[in-house]
Amino acid sequence: MKDLTHASAGALVGAAVCLAAGCPVVGAVVGGIAAMIPDLDMPTSGIGRRFPYLSSLIHGAFGHRKHFHTVYACAAISLLLSMIVVGLCFIFFNSSVVVFYALLACTLVSMLLGHLGLDMATRSGLQPLHPYGPHFKWFFSDEHRHWESIMTVGFIALTIIVCIVHL
Ligand SMILES: [Zn+2]
Repeated sequence: MKDLTHASAGALVGAAVCLAAGCPVVGAVVGGIAAMIPDLDMPTSGIGRRFPYLSSLIHGAFGHRKHFHTVYACAAISLLLSMIVVGLCFIFFNSSVVVFYALLACTLVSMLLGHLGLDMATRSGLQPLHPYGPHFKWFFSDEHRHWESIMTVGFIALTIIVCIVHL
């Protein structure tokens, strides 16, 4: 899957989750970024090229689509990212605990659905409970690029609609 597909799906999930907390735009931004994080385990990915040393380190330690592409890793990263974002929000905007739970849910669900869900739809697939549990894979490959583009445009359009509905 392309970085933009992951980011747009994460943005949609993040906007929808944070709509309940009244901050869909923040949710879209955090969700979009969060949904690209699992690909830090691949130095040639978009986010991997932005953080080459960190990406090479993670790739060397875990490989691609293994431990860093699991439900456990997503949960740990979501907690860490939420604490950092909410810490910054608390310092600059005096935000509440509700925002913490909204962002935690946003990052977690964005990574699980926006990233792992889409990677499971590819031909090589992934094992979300690696090294245990089933290995999910589906049909998306290079011949299906047009569907991926259509999905990406749909995710972006729906994200914009969710953010506009809130205004
Ligand atoms: Zn991935």
